[in-house]
Order: sequence, then C-alpha cells, then structure tokens
Amino acid sequence: MPRTIAENVAEVRAKIAAAAALSGRRADEVTLVAVSKYVGDAEIAELLAAGCRDLGESRPQDLWRKAPLFRDSSPRDDQPRWHFIGHLQTNKIDRTLPLTALVHSLDRESLIQPLQQSAQKQSLVVPVLLEVNISGDESKHGFRAEELEPLLAKLATLPNLAVRGLMGMAGLESDEDKSRREFASLRELRERLQKNCPPNVQLNELSMGMSGDYEIAIEEGATIVRVGSALYQ
Ligand SMILES: *Cc1c(COP(=O)(O)O)cnc(C)c1O
Repeated sequence: MPRTIAENVAEVRAKIAAAAALSGRRADEVTLVAVSKYVGDAEIAELLAAGCRDLGESRPQDLWRKAPLFRDSSPRDDQPRWHFIGHLQTNKIDRTLPLTALVHSLDRESLIQPLQQSAQKQSLVVPVLLEVNISGDESKHGFRAEELEPLLAKLATLPNLAVRGLMGMAGLESDEDKSRREFASLRELRERLQKNCPPNVQLNELSMGMSGDYEIAIEEGATIVRVGSALYQ
C-alpha cells in the first residue's frame, strides 16, 4: 500500500533526529526543506498539514504559481517559507526574490550583480547560500572552493544580499563514503572561511543532503536538508 505523505514526513523527521543525535545536535537544529518540485497542490497541502513549513522549488515558474496560492490559503502567522534550490536565470530574478525565504543556489559570479540590483530595486535583503561544486562533477553548478574567499569579500560590500552559508550536492556517482567525504569537505571549507570572515557575512548554514544521503549529510554537519522523493513513495 502506498504510504501517506504524513507517514513519510514522520519517518524522515525520525531519521533526521537520529542523525542529529549522532552529530551531537538536537533535531530542531536541522531544518527539513520539503522539496515540492515534483508534486501538485494537493500534495503540498498534505505537506503543510504534516507540519512542513519550509518548501523547496527549483523552477521559478512553479514557485511563482505555488507561493501566492499557499500564502493566501495559509494563516497569516503560519506562512510557508519557500526555498529556491534551482538554477536561477537572470530574467527570472525579479519575480522570484520577493517569494523566496532563502536562495540556496547562488552558483556563479554573473548572478551576483543582477541579484543585488533586483533586491535593491525591490527594497529587499535577500538571504543567500553559495553553491559549491563539492564533487567536481562537470555537470554540477557551483563555485570551486578556491573561489570563495574573494567572493565573500565582494558579497560583504553588497547591502541587499545576506550570505548565510554554503550549499552542496554529492556527486551523481558518489557512493556513501565518497558522499560523506564531499559533505565533510564542505563543512571544513566553511570552518576555514569562518576564520577570516568579513563582517555581515554569516556562514552558519550548511545546506546539504537529499533523499538518498540526508542522514550522512547531517552526521557531517548539515543544518538544512532538501528532501523530495522520499516524501512521495
Ligand atoms: C530535486 C532536488 C532535491 C531533492 O532531491 P530528492 O533526491 O528527490 O530528495 C534537493 N536539492 C536540489 C538542488 C534539487 O534540485
């Protein structure tokens, strides 16, 4: 029998709690972003009913449609928070920013000025994560680790972008050990950068881990996991 979304959410939460305990943390120190990019409105309503408030979308057009719908149908003091986790084209920035609580995927230098300009024009301060290509896969977006230090110095001068941390994905070909090393490398990168961090840049968040590897990611220090398909089996 197919499992309900509520059952899947409960199981994922239990596994998050167990993995957090293994890394000496409480379950509420890890944010579950329920990735809703695969599903329609009925399933999103089930996610909200199951207590998921952080939802992830990777296509701007889907976010533009879903976010206003669920803003209007959710209580004012209990609004969903939308996370943008996909590749953001510059012509989609203006409509995406006002709907987004956290952009996980600042993945290239050429996105920085357009993001800053759009945020400024709309009087927003936009929380962002820098996406790092931790696997080295050619197919993956993101900065190389060496690029980050000068990048943080530049971002620190931009008043409408608020850096909150780093995001990474394990390689497509990575087995458990390799994924673990890739996640650990993102945590270590964060620790190195924190030693010399410009003021008003924060690196508290580590967004890493998806359905296949979120427990490993949490053991290696993830503060945010982005889980999709495990919620819909
Ligand atoms: C789709 C997606 C996820 C969720 O992946 P699942 O394996 O279905 O959990 C997480 N992060 C990003 C960036 C995605 O695009």
